[in-house]
Amino acid sequence: MTTAIYPGSFDPFHNGHLDIVLRASRIFEQVVVAVAENPGKSPWFDLKTRTALCEASVGHLPGVRVTGSRGLTVAFARAQGAQVILRGLRAVLDFDYEVQMAMMNRHLDREMETFFLLTSNRYSYLSSSLIKQLVDVDAPVEDLVPEPVHRHLMALSRHRT
Ligand code: ADP
Repeated sequence: MTTAIYPGSFDPFHNGHLDIVLRASRIFEQVVVAVAENPGKSPWFDLKTRTALCEASVGHLPGVRVTGSRGLTVAFARAQGAQVILRGLRAVLDFDYEVQMAMMNRHLDREMETFFLLTSNRYSYLSSSLIKQLVDVDAPVEDLVPEPVHRHLMALSRHRT
């Protein structure tokens, strides 16, 4: 059974992420969405909230599991029984960083493969930071995030006003 781990900050999870999970679940028997703590990135949402929003968005899909993660991705992937690290690529911009990470992960664990899925055209401009910028100015994000994430973002906006 091939298990792929999809690590990310998911701050918050958006439709570009969802698209990658849906497509990967047709390729791999199991997809584990690993929500990284990533304190270095000063996330908007804490690990518990980011994990709960991923769970509400994709936890019901067959073969998909969501979990919080800490520490080294390759070590976490192994502990989850994954053989593959899954990453999404949007543009040339992502490429250098992603190749560097993939090489480092291979250095750390020779048997762990990184698998890249190219973004679908319609999500190529989507990023968590752009969504946060939109939310900050009360711009609509309904079409850009799964429904549970949208509900959470709207509750947040109401809370601020
Ligand atoms: P990280 O902080 O690890 O980059 P992100 O939550 O930003 O975490 O992204 C997780 C993964 O999803 C990364 O592989 C990233 O390239 C990918 N990704 C982000 N946005 C998109 C998108 N619009 N389409 C496809 N993949 C995406």
